[in-house]
Amino acid sequence: MRNKMEILDGKKIKNEILDELCNEVKNMSEKPSLAVIQVGDNEASNIYIKQKEKMAQYVGYQFHHIRLEDNITEEELLNEIDKLNKDINIHGILVQMPLPSHINTNKVQNAVIPEKDVDGLSDMNAGMLFHGKDALFSCTPYGVMELLKRYNINVEGKHAVVVGRSNLVGKPMSIMLTNAGATVTLCHSKTKDLAKYMRDADILVVTVGKPKFVTEDMVRSQTIVIDVGITRLESGLCGDVDYENVKDKCTYITPVPGGVGPMTVAMLGKNVLKAYKMQRK
Ligand code: NAP
Repeated sequence: MRNKMEILDGKKIKNEILDELCNEVKNMSEKPSLAVIQVGDNEASNIYIKQKEKMAQYVGYQFHHIRLEDNITEEELLNEIDKLNKDINIHGILVQMPLPSHINTNKVQNAVIPEKDVDGLSDMNAGMLFHGKDALFSCTPYGVMELLKRYNINVEGKHAVVVGRSNLVGKPMSIMLTNAGATVTLCHSKTKDLAKYMRDADILVVTVGKPKFVTEDMVRSQTIVIDVGITRLESGLCGDVDYENVKDKCTYITPVPGGVGPMTVAMLGKNVLKAYKMQRK
């Protein structure tokens, strides 16, 4: 049994993945392309899109940033997506969230055709995951699985507890872990005695969005802790786990920043190449 804690270094693994993608792309005569649609001028969205653009430039993808006014109608936005769906030179389409409240997010996510849906959030791709079929998967949980794989952490037979049931992270995470052979408990705000479940976890994935929500007393020793949460505080970025007090109880833990966040960008990079190959097959 391991006693020493090891940090799951998402930044390092992201760089490895991007280098692998870069090596593959440099030998391709046609470069895969990613189009990001932004509605409005949300500050956090600007930062996330810059990270995606940096990733695309590093790997050698073409990158298109389509900016639309926040008073655009839903129909106009759907028309823009339709144009990109039909454009054979665009291989990946991502609509940056959040969207203004007058636009139906689920409708927009499902307007992107499944083979260009590099966010993996359409009902079709989520369904493919559910059925254990290969598809474009939601980047954050996919990134968690890749991080575990690259650290040779076998999830089979382990009890994985996922806290948070968002369509973006928690639900697909629970399915990916299930498909990989873990026994999964999915918790949320209605879960009674949440700490009891967390203390029973071999792998604890937290995607709640509340800084330092998981405290030392909620984690038993030898747990693998994956902190998905990111909250911007005046002091900087903060995860859902009270990292300083929890880390010494863990066998592995992801830091914030530098854990799951970079993996999300890396898996977007992987999805763009996968989407390209699906379309050119
Ligand atoms: P979300 O849609 O905001 O959902 C939060 C989930 O947490 C819900 O399922 C909610 O339960 C649950 N929850 C809230 N309070 C709880 C409590 N007291 N006890 C147990 N469960 C509780 O979440 P998300 O989109 O998954 O995002 C979560 C966090 O991850 C945010 O900080 C976000 O910024 C971050 N994030 C990071 C990345 C990355 O790349 N690292 C990517 C995506 C998101 P109910 O369903 O019952 O309401």
